Amino acid sequence: MIRPEDSAWAIPVAQVSSRPGQRQEVDAAYPAPDGIGDQIVGVQEGSDIRVDGAFDSIVDGLVFQAHVIAPLHAECTRCLVPINRDWGLDATAFFPYAPQPTGAMHYNARAAEDRAARDEVEIIAGEDEAEDTYPLSADGVYADIQALLRDTLVENLPLQLLCKPNCRGLCPQCGVNLNEHPDHRHDVTDIRFASLAGLKAQLEQNQSTQDPSNKA
Ligand SMILES: [Zn+2]
Ligand SMILES: [Zn+2]
Repeated sequence: MIRPEDSAWAIPVAQVSSRPGQRQEVDAAYPAPDGIGDQIVGVQEGSDIRVDGAFDSIVDGLVFQAHVIAPLHAECTRCLVPINRDWGLDATAFFPYAPQPTGAMHYNARAAEDRAARDEVEIIAGEDEAEDTYPLSADGVYADIQALLRDTLVENLPLQLLCKPNCRGLCPQCGVNLNEHPDHRHDVTDIRFASLAGLKAQLEQNQSTQDPSNKA
């Protein structure tokens, strides 16, 4: 079995654990867990996620609040250019002190189908349903934020990203990036005139060969 302290995401919280009113600040980088998005939109596993926040000890657990900054890779939904930018968001979670007798087996469950079980744990802990609940290590010495980081980032992945607010997108006819070629256009009128001109020339030619008056 992997020891809690061996996790790259384990934060020692013994200083504040079970001491209501105490606060422990966190300001460090943690590796991005796997499973955050995909090749199109996501955070590369192992890249640095900056976590700046604190654990606040209350009567029945630790409240964790932090500002998280992750390196997001994505694609502009209009012009498809790659986007790489720092993505900042707030994370909030609750680490209850007392393991719930009925919910203990669910503490390590992170799959979606166990979501209901976790909601149940949250209700037992008397917390707001919207707040995610995670386990402390068995002895209450460590709070592991791996699942918290993964869940928070996955739930908030931006789906409609633009390279810039006024991205002009791609030419619907030929796919040219209109940000790089702002004057690009297809002169539709000219093409029509060109074919009309060709038709006219052809008609004139036919006329000149068929009209006897022209032979005179
Ligand atoms: Zn764009
Ligand atoms: Zn075009």
